[in-house]
This record gives sequence, C-alpha cells and structure tokens, in this order.
Amino acid sequence: MPKKVYFKYGVMGSAKSLDLVRAEYNYRERGMDTIVFMPEMDTRTSKKVWSRVGVSVNALPVSSRENLFVLVKKEIEENKRHVKAVFVDEVNFMTAVQIDQLADVADYLNIPVLCYGLRTDFRTQLFEGSRRLLEIADEIEEIKAMCECGRKAICTARFVDGKPVNSGEQIVIGVEQYNSYCRSCYKKLFKSQGDLLFDF
Ligand SMILES: [Zn+2]
Repeated sequence: MPKKVYFKYGVMGSAKSLDLVRAEYNYRERGMDTIVFMPEMDTRTSKKVWSRVGVSVNALPVSSRENLFVLVKKEIEENKRHVKAVFVDEVNFMTAVQIDQLADVADYLNIPVLCYGLRTDFRTQLFEGSRRLLEIADEIEEIKAMCECGRKAICTARFVDGKPVNSGEQIVIGVEQYNSYCRSCYKKLFKSQGDLLFDF
C-alpha cells in the first residue's frame, strides 16, 4: 500500500526539529527503524538534527545531487534494513526533483515520508522544495509560532549585522540571524504603509 508524504512547515523558531525528533523517537521506541535525511549544507547541525531544547537524532546529510529514492532502496536491499519511516529535516533545501524522489519512496517502497521545513525564505518567497511539497504532499500541516505582536508569525526575516535584509542569496552560510514575524510586522521592517513590499 502506498503511504503518505507529509509536509510540516513553520517559520524559524516554530520548534519543527523538536517535532521531528519526537515523532522519530515514537518509531524507535516501538522498535521500528527509520532514516533521517538532512541537507548537507546545513553545517550548524553536522550529522544530527538538533532541537533547541537539546534533544537530537542522528541524520544522514545529503547533497542536492543525491537520489533519495535510491538511497532508501539501497538501505533496504543491501543493508537489509526494515525502514518504517523516512524523515527529512530542513526539507526546504531539497530540490524539486528530490521531493519527487521522496514521493516515490511513499508510492513504490510504501514508506511514509515526514518532511519538516520552512515554507518561505527571508524574501517571503517559496523555497523550491517547499513549493513542490505544497503541490504533491498528501498532508500539509502548519507548525505555528507567534510574532512578537501576538499574531501568528508567517514570515522569516534575515538580519545581517543586526539590520533586516530582504534581498540577496537564498542560502547563506554565515553570521546572519533570523527572526519570525507576522506579515504586518515583517513589512514594517522594510517599508512604510501602502508601499509594495517588493518591486516585481
Ligand atoms: Zn506581528
């Protein structure tokens, strides 16, 4: 039986990794094997998915060129693993092709795939992997977080040297910081009322 692809998205600070670690633990506690993928470029966490409350799970870093379907199939056929679930952390950094490979894991290997990540980048635009998940995931769930004003946070802002920026590369490995806001507070970081947020 084909299984489902889940996309659990949230802004920075919405405890997505904690949710992943907890869900993965539920499988292992029952003696069920899992595979956890994470993007190789996420150097913060090396080979573990860390949640901010200090719990972690071992993960397999993968580059954007690797075929996730082939990797899972290999673990089953060559290493004789009985994989019962596949987890993906920071799934927004996966390519659209890799998301389709994950869908193949659910459809042809009959293993549920649970993906966690950001929906949009610091420019409020969809990540490639997240866009594909919104298109093809069976179940889509928002992990909610609050803006400092009390409304729901839906935008992630990037700060470089303490100043908010809304242009530049989508992926930066470095000293930038992120904070999450509602749309209104996000806009106030950059523009005055009534202005277009971006010049498309
Ligand atoms: Zn707000």
